[in-house]
Amino acid sequence: AVGHDESMSESPFIDVLPRARQDFRDRHVESYRRHLAAAEVMPGGNTRTVLHHPPFPLTFVTGQGSQLTDADGHTYIDFLGDYTAGLLGHSEARSLDAAFAALRSNSSVGGHHPDEERLARLMCKRFLVDRVRFTNSGTEANLMAITAARIFTGRPTIVVMEHGYHGGVLYFGAEAAPWSVPYPYVMARFNDLDSVRAQLHGHADDVAAVIVEPMMGGAGCLPPEPGFLAGVVETAHQIGALAIFDEVMTSRHGPHGLADIHGASPDLKTFGKYIAAGFSFGAFGGTAEIMAMFDPTSASPVSHAGTFNNNVASMAAGVTVLSDLFTSDIASAHTSRGEEFRAEVAGVLARRSLPLVVCGYGSMMTIIARAELPRDGTAAADRDSALQELVHLGLTRRGFHIAARGMVNLSLPLTDDDLAGFLNALDDTCAELAG
Ligand code: PMP
Repeated sequence: AVGHDESMSESPFIDVLPRARQDFRDRHVESYRRHLAAAEVMPGGNTRTVLHHPPFPLTFVTGQGSQLTDADGHTYIDFLGDYTAGLLGHSEARSLDAAFAALRSNSSVGGHHPDEERLARLMCKRFLVDRVRFTNSGTEANLMAITAARIFTGRPTIVVMEHGYHGGVLYFGAEAAPWSVPYPYVMARFNDLDSVRAQLHGHADDVAAVIVEPMMGGAGCLPPEPGFLAGVVETAHQIGALAIFDEVMTSRHGPHGLADIHGASPDLKTFGKYIAAGFSFGAFGGTAEIMAMFDPTSASPVSHAGTFNNNVASMAAGVTVLSDLFTSDIASAHTSRGEEFRAEVAGVLARRSLPLVVCGYGSMMTIIARAELPRDGTAAADRDSALQELVHLGLTRRGFHIAARGMVNLSLPLTDDDLAGFLNALDDTCAELAG
């Protein structure tokens, strides 16, 4: 958020903001009360930073399908989809049935159980990896993939993209945030193969891996330009380093994830979010040769511990998701639906002379308050913060839930009427702001 205040004070929309915030406060008295109560026991009332936004975040008390209800009784059509984890919608019955059945028959196993193998087999086939291991979160999956690369290559350094996000402790702007795990990092720029080549060749003896998200999600749903991802893999291999693709968000695209759509085959991939239908989940996988380091029967195995790595709820829900609720065919159709919808969002934005664009691919997109489509994270961060907030407040008032930073992720239960309703609400919001 460097530049946040600057863009705020320069924004032509700054004068409109106080009224919109006051309107939000007036409509959400109970959420505010709960926010204050939560702040007595959690710093800022918060335990997941991304969920905080001004003037205060809503408290949601129930959710069903594509709908959410807040503490003041307002209902929303959910266009955030829990930052991609909510792909199935709220409280999807078949995934809950699978998880509850597993929990009833055998919880806290403290041993192996059949759903681990089932889910691992589904993941290997679906996401084109030889072997996989499970974690509790996408953050952990990336930590383990980086660990695997460092041990496999015997080198220390990790190349990351500016404004990349790979988890709570793998958080980058122009450089690593102070709360990132203290590996030696070298920064490159997304969609700029020259910068990737320069950094990899410039640190050729030290680099263990380059980690990249096939589309930068948190930075604003910035899709890769043709050839970029394959170029990253090729360049990493030229210097004997590994390529790690973070598909925590992007594995939902197409039949095998976004890397495959771009014809890129990294050494390791990481996963998370929707795969366990809302239960905690993460996984990392890759070539048999690299993953063999974790084989406990090998001569000097790398340990990968975790009490809940194979927890039965996540494993059982994951099996149902990949085998039934979100098959390759459903994933491909959902990607196409997202592509059509994003074009319609772009059409709505183009009708007004506001500096608003929509970036993304498939069912993931971000409405960004700037005049031109950004190619990389630095450009995407350069936006009109006041206008960004007004779009969020405007859609909230009209009963549509998106991320404060503009992210939209389509979930499966959204109906065509829901999509049309969103386009109307966006058009109405823009018309009001265009004044
Ligand atoms: N990688 C990416 C690309 C993500 O978007 C996220 C979560 N937003 C993570 C990793 C971390 O996953 P988790 O929140 O499950 O730790």
